[in-house]
This record gives sequence, C-alpha cells and structure tokens, in this order.
Amino acid sequence: MASKRSSGLDFSDRSVPHLDQHPDLAPQYMNGGDAPAHLQRNKTERRRLQGLQRSTTNSSVTAAPYQPSTFKEKFDAWMINEGGKRLFFSVWIFLHILVIIFGFMNYQLKDNGVTARATFGITYPIARTAALVLHVDVAFILLPVCRNFISLLRRTPLNQIIPFDKNITFHKATGWSIFWFTNIHIAAHMVNFTKLALADTDAKNTGQRIVAFILANFATGPGATGWIMTAALYTMIWFAMEKRRRAHFERFWYSHHLFIVFFICWQLHGMFCMIKPDRPPYCSFNTIGVFWRYWLVGGVIWIYERILREVRSRHRTYVSKVIQHPSKVMEVQIKKEKTKTRAGQYIFLCCPEISYFQWHPFTLTSAPEEDYISVHIRVVGDFTSAFAKSLGCDFDSKGEKNSDAGGKVVPPPINRVLPRVMVDGPFGSASEDFLNYETVLLVGAGIGVTPFASILKSIWYRMNNFNHSKPTRLSKVYFTWVIRDFGAAEWFHSLLHAIEEQDTQNRIEINIYLTAKIKDDDMTNIIVQDVGAEKDAITSLRAPTHFGRPNWDRVFSSIADKHPETDVGVFFCGPAVLSRQLHVMSNKYSNPKGTRFFFGKENF
Ligand SMILES: Cc1cc2nc3c(=O)[nH]c(=O)nc-3n(C[C@H](O)[C@H](O)[C@H](O)COP(=O)(O)OP(=O)(O)OC[C@H]3O[C@@H](n4cnc5c(N)ncnc54)[C@H](O)[C@@H]3O)c2cc1C
Repeated sequence: MASKRSSGLDFSDRSVPHLDQHPDLAPQYMNGGDAPAHLQRNKTERRRLQGLQRSTTNSSVTAAPYQPSTFKEKFDAWMINEGGKRLFFSVWIFLHILVIIFGFMNYQLKDNGVTARATFGITYPIARTAALVLHVDVAFILLPVCRNFISLLRRTPLNQIIPFDKNITFHKATGWSIFWFTNIHIAAHMVNFTKLALADTDAKNTGQRIVAFILANFATGPGATGWIMTAALYTMIWFAMEKRRRAHFERFWYSHHLFIVFFICWQLHGMFCMIKPDRPPYCSFNTIGVFWRYWLVGGVIWIYERILREVRSRHRTYVSKVIQHPSKVMEVQIKKEKTKTRAGQYIFLCCPEISYFQWHPFTLTSAPEEDYISVHIRVVGDFTSAFAKSLGCDFDSKGEKNSDAGGKVVPPPINRVLPRVMVDGPFGSASEDFLNYETVLLVGAGIGVTPFASILKSIWYRMNNFNHSKPTRLSKVYFTWVIRDFGAAEWFHSLLHAIEEQDTQNRIEINIYLTAKIKDDDMTNIIVQDVGAEKDAITSLRAPTHFGRPNWDRVFSSIADKHPETDVGVFFCGPAVLSRQLHVMSNKYSNPKGTRFFFGKENF
C-alpha cells in the first residue's frame, strides 16, 4: 500500500466516498432544514463542520471551567497535571536539603577534623558540604540526557511517577545546582586560601602573602584543577543559556563537551589530600578522589549510549526517496535495518558529508506500520540547508513556489550517489503516550505538526487494520493545526484527505486555523469559492478552515461536554507561548471527577 505513494504523506491513491456517506453529516442538515440560527457559516460549509466545531460555533461556552472549593478538590485538580512533576522536584530539593544538613553536621562535628576547623573556621565545613552536594549532583547530571535509558523507562510504571518529559529541565536544574554549589565551594576556599596565606610564616609582607595566595590557587593540584573545572563549567553554562543556545546551537554543542575536562579535573581535584584529617589513614583510597563513585552509574550508561550510537550509525542505512514540498519542507525517506519505531518518536540524524559530529533531532513522520522511516525537515539553517542541497533539493528556484502540493520527488543525482546518512534512535517523546487515552487532542503549530503525522498515520493504519496493526482503544482524536499561511499546510494535506475519507466512524476531527492576516482580495476569492462547495477552498478538506486563532475555551469546554468522565490526552508541539496556553486550559477544564485533561508537550 505504502509503496504506491510518492510521498509518505501522499494517501491520495484511494477512491473518494461520496460526501453523503460521511456519518458526521446530521440528517437535518442534509435535508436542508433545522440548522440553528446562530450558525453563521453558509449552509454547505455548515454541513462540513465537524462535531467539536458545531458546538464551538455556538457563542455560549458549554462546560464551565472546574472550580474546586475544598482543599481536597484543589489538591486532586493540582495532581492531574502539576502534582507529579512538582512532587518529583520537591523530593530532589528535599534530598539536597538533607545532604546539606547532614553534611554540614558531619564536617562540623567530626572528631577527625579538629585541626582543619581550628585553621579555617566555618568555611571548612561550608566548602566540604558544598563539595558533597556537588557529588550528589554529579550522580544525576548525566541520567536525564541518556535518551535510550529514558525511552526504556518510559515504558515502565515509573512513567506514572517520574516526569520523563522534563528530562532536560531536570538536567538544567542539576546543572544550576552544580553552578551555585561550585560558587559556594570556591568562595569558602578563597577564604581558606587567604587564611593559609596569612598564616604562612615564610611570607613576611603583604606582597609575599598575595604571592602565597596566588600560588595556593594556581600552583597546587587542587587549586589548578579547581580553576580549570570552573573555567570549563562557566563556559558550558554561558553557551547553554537559552538565548545563546538557540542563536548558536553549535557553540553550545561543542562547548558542552568540556564536561570531559570538567569530570577528569574533578576526579583529580579530590586526590591531592590538601586538607589532611587529624588521624590516619590520612588519604586512603576510600576517602579521597571519590568522585568516580558518584559518577559511575550515570557515566557508564552515558558511555554505553555513545557506543550504541556508533553501532547504530554503522547499520545499513540509505536514503530511499527525497520529496521536495512547498514552504521549504523536504521529506526524506530512509531505509534502515534493525529499526523498530513507535508513533510520536524522534531520531537523530547525521550526514557525515556535512559534518561527522553534528547530530540533529527530527520527529518521525512515518508510522510503525511502514517499512521505511521518514522525516519532514523544514530548511531553516546551516545544517538543514546543506542537507537539502546534498540531497538534490532546490528551494531557491522560482518553480518551487508553484510546485505541487503533494510535493515533487527529487530525482537521484545522475553523476553522484546520495550522501550517506547515519541514524540514532528512535527515542521516546511525550506524544508517544497517545494510545493510553480514549480521547486525544493533538495540537501542532507550523512544522510542529510532524509528531502528529506518524500518530495520525498510525491511527489510520489501525483503523483500517493494514499490516495487521493492533486495533486501538482510542475512540476520538481531535486534531488541530495552527499555521500562519496557506503554503505551510500543503505538504500535510494528502494525509488529512485520506483520513477524512477513511474515517467512516468519525473518529478523527480535523481543525485547521490560519493565523496570518488575509488580503481582502484573497478573502473574497475564498468566500466565492466556498459558497456551496462541498470542500474547503484552501485545503480541499471537508472540514472548513478557520481564520484566526483557536478559541481554546470553547475547544476545551466542548470536549469536556462531549466526553464526560474521560481522560483526555492533550499533546502539543510548537512554540512556548501556545504551549503555555494549552497547559493553562488543560488545568482550567480538568475536573478530577469528570473530564481530566493530561497535558504533554514537545519543543523543537
Ligand atoms: C525533539 C526534536 C524534534 C524535532 N523535529 C523536527 C522535525 O520533525 N522537523 C523539523 O524541521 N525540525 C525538527 N526539529 C528542529 C530541528 O532539529 C532543527 O531545526 C535543526 O536541527 C536545525 O539545524 P540547522 O543547523 O539547519 O539550523 P540552525 O539555524 O543552526 O538552528 C535552528 C534552530 O534549531 C536548533 N538546533 C540546531 N541544531 C540543533 C540540534 N543538533 N539539536 C537540537 N536543536 C538544534 C537551534 O537551537 C535553533 O533554534 C526538532 C527538534 C527537536 C529538539
């Protein structure tokens, strides 16, 4: 089935059933009467409106937001979307507090550190406690970036307790903790070094004491390794800050590899036994240079994953088809041995011809039922442009603007072979959980629609039981796509058409919102074409296109109305502003005893 199509999203090789067969068309509308007066759309268009929109066209909001009054009700509502993550982070903070309290008491009271305390005072236990917290942090720092490990854990009951979607937030929080406790550790040791310099009997005047202080900082093992670590840490954090990372991803990526220097120096840093205990064993294997013990679990898993990437990148992989879509989107179909995917996952792609070290994440748009993997790539920057060029796409020529909405297959170059690609993954994401719900609201913005391509395709295959796919308990899918202009929608149409045609049980409801301001002339054109038409003038779908932004209050209240006492999965991929809105709406309309909206998001 799939092989007949030119594009992975080209489902157009099916016969189109007559519109009358569409179960969504209410008989009274078909007969031309009874349509409520408040519906402002023309009659034919009204018939095309799907269930949710029928009620969203109504000016009155159906289900009101949930208003918890008692503490228990507030707590239950909070637990739906916030509780799990907040409790997890609270446990993590509590762990830090425990380490600080017990660490400080230990270094302050330990009878083996009397001399150190007498020499340095309170800054000795402060420096040591900060170091202890840093060791605990290093045990966590690598785990959230071990993607295979996380993908594996996602499939266990731990997925109900640990917010795996927040892995990068957790990594960042641990990174910030390392930053702050490093500063505390340094500040305390600067006081300690000053005390050492002042107590140095060889240093007779201020100049010599300054020299002694500088020597303690840079000519001793702990001092030198400490400052190298600090420089590495500050550089990593500087380039990892959100704005800089987004603007110069490569600088962030390469500078973050300073973590190797950071870890090596950390191991050495603790091995010099500069501040000796009062009694032997002074500097035994068990008491100094213990960094590696804390690092071991995360480090081994991380190294294993890096080796896995090397192994996977050597699997037989080749680009089988390239399709150039309008709006600077290209579809790359790849054949790769030993790859099992799940809808909603993403892969890392490397093209050694462009750079051996750059691995870029892209969401799979192919369904697990298909015998290839595909990604839709929006050509935005250095890598994607170079990759598109090497695959033979030409987005600069004039023809591109008028090209076929289904996309044009890029013929393989005659005088050379297509570049080699390496694929790592697939890895799990929030949207992977869509099958856990009976009802889902999928919201994509712009290219953020990609995760839903594979999900919708997979549902389509399941509905049709192709390739013996497992039937799904999912009974209703609300798919909403928010796009700026017409062009951006084109490459996805064919899949949506196929879904509309095949969806005889009215399980998938499509809503497309165009947010760009439309010129008056264009608008007149659309209205003229739309009057009496059975298909939308822009998308050729039965579902009419909406102009402007979605009214989320209406969307959520309608879903709550139509699906009482149901768990609804809300999956979003797109910009942060819209993500926040949906998160707020999911909380606002969740009722612990009624419809519960579980929000999950993916960020590009
Ligand atoms: C989980 C995930 C799934 C994604 N899925 C898709 C998809 O299906 N289709 C699509 O077109 N894009 C997707 N992206 C975005 C895509 O990875 C970037 O557009 C691409 O890496 C840009 O590279 P560039 O050098 O051409 O652009 P640049 O101009 O260098 O970067 C453009 C943007 O992409 C980010 N970026 C650059 N390199 C990387 C990288 N190696 N890893 C993460 N982010 C990077 C930058 O911070 C910047 O915001 C996804 C991103 C993530 C994190």
